[in-house]
Amino acid sequence: VSLVRNTVDDTWLAVSELKGPNWWFVSVYPESLIAATANQTAAAVLSTGIALLFLLIGIIGFIIRRDAERPLEQLREAAQHVQRGDYAAVAEGRVNLPRELGNEVGMLANTFYDMTVSIRDTQMTLEQTVADRTRELKQANASLRELSLHDGLLGIHNRRAFDQDLLRVFTKARLSHGNLHLMLIDVDQFKLFNDSYGHIRGDQTLRKIAETISDTIRNEDRVYRYGGEELAVFFNRGSVESVERAAERVMAAVRNLAIEFAESDHGIITISAGLVHCHAGHTGVDDVVAEADKLLYESKNKGRNLLTFAKKNWGAETVGFNDSA
Ligand code: GH3
Ligand code: MG
Ligand code: MG
Repeated sequence: VSLVRNTVDDTWLAVSELKGPNWWFVSVYPESLIAATANQTAAAVLSTGIALLFLLIGIIGFIIRRDAERPLEQLREAAQHVQRGDYAAVAEGRVNLPRELGNEVGMLANTFYDMTVSIRDTQMTLEQTVADRTRELKQANASLRELSLHDGLLGIHNRRAFDQDLLRVFTKARLSHGNLHLMLIDVDQFKLFNDSYGHIRGDQTLRKIAETISDTIRNEDRVYRYGGEELAVFFNRGSVESVERAAERVMAAVRNLAIEFAESDHGIITISAGLVHCHAGHTGVDDVVAEADKLLYESKNKGRNLLTFAKKNWGAETVGFNDSA
């Protein structure tokens, strides 16, 4: 078939030879008809193309939103939690992460999740370690504080503890008009005891005396090593009379140990003491100690193995402990 353009009357001729009779079959198509059909087809192709283009854009938009935009938004949200230090929200799945995606964003999400879990675990371990160390440090500090307030040889509180407690109790007594009773004790002729029995026996004896006094006083009272062979007892609370009885019990308890001391005036280890009750005349802690010291040496001067206590009228009274006491 041949197509021939007839420019004379704007038609197209489709010419084909019919074999046999040797005729020609000629179809005449007006150009306007062909142009109209062509235009229709072109318009259909164009509108279908445009529709397909919009569909493609829609599909691409959907895919981008599903596989990139939303996952990246979730990642951003998770990163903000991590930035605030809230690793647990991500590690425990309270913040959604696109980990199920099979693309690069999914891989990124999985790496981000693993990293966050790892940071969370490290942080928890670190926090636990810090808590453990802090607790150990507190315990060590408490032990050190206790150690610094105790006497290594006698195991009772030391002079540092005495000074602290005296100031505290004195101040409290001043403020609340409470009681402060101080008993100052000195082992009699202890130099002679050391010379006679040796320092090791001397140490043992001092320990025994301290232990006995501790056992004799109440829990709320406290015994201290004031220095050398001198001890101090705070009697907290209680009336003057009850404290005097308590101090007498301390004297008797040491005597009742009956530690042999042949060279002494009494044949056994004895102590001398002064007992003072804090009163308005004491302007400071030094006054209290000075008065206790004065009363103690009164006991010494009067022959040892004695307790001298301040009387209510701020005079002094000495109580003897003879063998029948
Ligand atoms: P006084 O009755 O007048 O108190 O006589 P004293 O011998 O006890 O007094 P002095 O102050 O002359 O001597 C105190 C002695 O106490 C001398 C010292 O070696 C001894 N002493 C002090 N602390 C300790 C100690 O921790 N262990 C031993 N074994 N002896 C001590
Ligand atoms: Mg002394
Ligand atoms: Mg002494």
